[in-house]
Amino acid sequence: MPPVEVEIAIVGAGIAGIATAYYLCTEHGVRDLLILDALPPMSLTTARSGENYRNWWPHPAMVAFTDSSIDLMERIARESANAIRMTRRGYALATRAKDVSGMVASLEAGYGATAAAHIRMVDTARAGANYVDCAPHGAEGWELAPDGIDVITEPDTIRRHFPHYADDVGAVLHVRRAGDISAQQMGQFMLEQIRASGGRLMLGRLASVERNGKFALLIETDEGSARVLAGSLVDAAGPFVCDVAAMLGVKLPTETIFQQKIAFRDRAAAIPRRMAFAVDLDPQILDWTAEERDLIGADPSNAWLTGRFPGGIHCRPEGGESSDWIKLGWAFNRAPVAPQWEPACDERFPEVVLRGAAALQPALKAYYGRLPTDLSLYGGYYTMTPENWPLIGPMGPAGAFVVGALSGYGTMAAAAAGSLCAGWIAGAELPDHAMALSLARYADEALMAELGESENKGIL
Ligand SMILES: Cc1cc2nc3c(=O)[nH]c(=O)nc-3n(C[C@H](O)[C@H](O)[C@H](O)COP(=O)(O)OP(=O)(O)OC[C@H]3O[C@@H](n4cnc5c(N)ncnc54)[C@H](O)[C@@H]3O)c2cc1C
Repeated sequence: MPPVEVEIAIVGAGIAGIATAYYLCTEHGVRDLLILDALPPMSLTTARSGENYRNWWPHPAMVAFTDSSIDLMERIARESANAIRMTRRGYALATRAKDVSGMVASLEAGYGATAAAHIRMVDTARAGANYVDCAPHGAEGWELAPDGIDVITEPDTIRRHFPHYADDVGAVLHVRRAGDISAQQMGQFMLEQIRASGGRLMLGRLASVERNGKFALLIETDEGSARVLAGSLVDAAGPFVCDVAAMLGVKLPTETIFQQKIAFRDRAAAIPRRMAFAVDLDPQILDWTAEERDLIGADPSNAWLTGRFPGGIHCRPEGGESSDWIKLGWAFNRAPVAPQWEPACDERFPEVVLRGAAALQPALKAYYGRLPTDLSLYGGYYTMTPENWPLIGPMGPAGAFVVGALSGYGTMAAAAAGSLCAGWIAGAELPDHAMALSLARYADEALMAELGESENKGIL
């Protein structure tokens, strides 16, 4: 069989590869494009996403990047009669701390020049009159949500608007340009436009690449080997982004860390259906009885379960107001591993994440030791650079590009990442943050020193 010839081949039909193809077709008029994947579209990491989005980051470049992604997602929501089910109830970050000056300083650093316009203090001096409840800002009301962030330390406002939070919560930071979307719906919307523009999908695993003028791809399919000749090549291989880069002789500074989530039917109605995405910022020791603690601690392989866990546990209602599903996640794992195509989950995770989440939302204690049997436990990789910034742009030989290292924010960033990568490929004008999000940042010593010093990498 003669090789298939295409202008651009994209390896990976996760949300990053699909978004890149979508913006190549819709913004740059590309017709001759092929997306290759070993699996059905969006069935690897993209299928494991919590599908949350936010413009809350420790650095203005990441705020600008995710803001631009949210702009693009809003456009798709409007064009598709909100087929992507965008909501805007925000992220409500809770802490027991009463003094939030350090957190406000970090918000100011993140929002940079626009901080004053973003941050609203809701304290005893300026009680909650100016605070807008998020309940109406679901899929029908997302456009009514305010922007910015409310820093609420006034106790009555916290109790009135977050009655499901534990009594010891001292402050809630409510990020308003945040919520969730359906990544699968967004990807399907993009795939329809890609197909309508002439783009193609191919099922097969990239085995090797040779560079002889063009990129010569050797692909393994169920029917045997196939060959593709491409003028440009995009590495959008998710957790396998390093392997594809290595085929081009490029070493990427990424690692893969397995993270998990659970979802189950909240038959006890512990979680309000119209609440914001709840995040507990405080580190904690899990809520075991003395007896349970002794039993767990007696087994060295379980002893870590009685230790200190980092902040960042999160919980939200899933599937809209008529559903009773909830999702809980906690990216506490920090151990890099080589990625597997079918990674195994840890059976201890459901009880760990449940007890962690109950520290903020005590009604979840109803499920201690009796989580539903139809619970869904799933996981995937955060593919990350050390500074937790993505890699988008040229890579190695001329004509090769990468769109990856999207860590735990690839759903929310996909639209901007795809648009940016498409811009690099097409030679279009690029946004100010483009260099900083590409491999070129490693030559910027001042930026790398600044990122190296920052303890907060925005991992959630
Ligand atoms: C538990 C968890 C929760 C998350 N929650 C959120 C969240 O709330 N919000 C958010 O924004 N993000 C979240 N993320 C992150 C988000 O899911 C990822 O960043 C995003 O899905 C990455 O998309 P991708 O296209 O880069 O990778 P993938 O979806 O993994 O796609 C890569 C594709 O490349 C293919 N591929 C790889 N190698 C080859 C090869 N050699 N040949 C052919 N095909 C190949 C794979 O089959 C795969 O389909 C979460 C991630 C996890 C794991």
